[in-house]
Amino acid sequence: MQRAFLEFGHSRLYRLGGRLVSAHLLVDDDGLVLVDAGLTGIAGELEGLLKEIQRSPEEVKAILLTHGHLDHTGDASRIQWETGAAVWVHPAERDHVDGRVQYRGWARGCGLLEAAGRLAFSFTPPEVTGDLSDGQRLPWWGGLRVVHLPGHTPGHCGFFCERTGWLLSGDVFASYAWSVHLPPLLLNRDQAGVRTTLKKVAAMELSGVIPSHYDVLDPRLHARRLREFAGRCG
Ligand SMILES: [Zn+2]
Ligand SMILES: [Zn+2]
Repeated sequence: MQRAFLEFGHSRLYRLGGRLVSAHLLVDDDGLVLVDAGLTGIAGELEGLLKEIQRSPEEVKAILLTHGHLDHTGDASRIQWETGAAVWVHPAERDHVDGRVQYRGWARGCGLLEAAGRLAFSFTPPEVTGDLSDGQRLPWWGGLRVVHLPGHTPGHCGFFCERTGWLLSGDVFASYAWSVHLPPLLLNRDQAGVRTTLKKVAAMELSGVIPSHYDVLDPRLHARRLREFAGRCG
């Protein structure tokens, strides 16, 4: 199977995972950075990819987590163990990553799902070694700017790539040809925040968007879908 990637000069962005949920490996001459760690199977896929592109696990400098949901953190501890990479997340997600978050009201359903998933996948939390904050510039891949995008979860963050003008947007929205939608109500901590964040991202000057849940790896297509969807949301 042909692995999906995008090329920009000497740098590449690889898609790991699939339509259910994707993680992304950013590769250039200075090192490698993983954005999110999928639900399961990403560690093995990453290992295969590194062999394919003849890069070593030690070159993975960081695992950046958009947020603490299990479908984004599932393989983080294994990948951290295999590569020695630092794990970064917004401080408001630390409890989530560790499985200590308190769900209240209707959000308890999400907590139950997460607890069941952690058990089913024998989840071990990674050791978080770095804090993300809004506006922070990370040195990798030509510069990655942290954009705090709360709502789905309190510390949900996206990563703006200065080199390409793309935003890795996590769970701000999901983008499929048959459906462009907000994350399911059950999974959101703050519904109003989800909409505010959608508008904020739609108003950003971006040449592309790469969500975590999508069909084809095409940043311009997702940017267009996002703007149309945000327009329809009023
Ligand atoms: Zn999520
Ligand atoms: Zn997700």
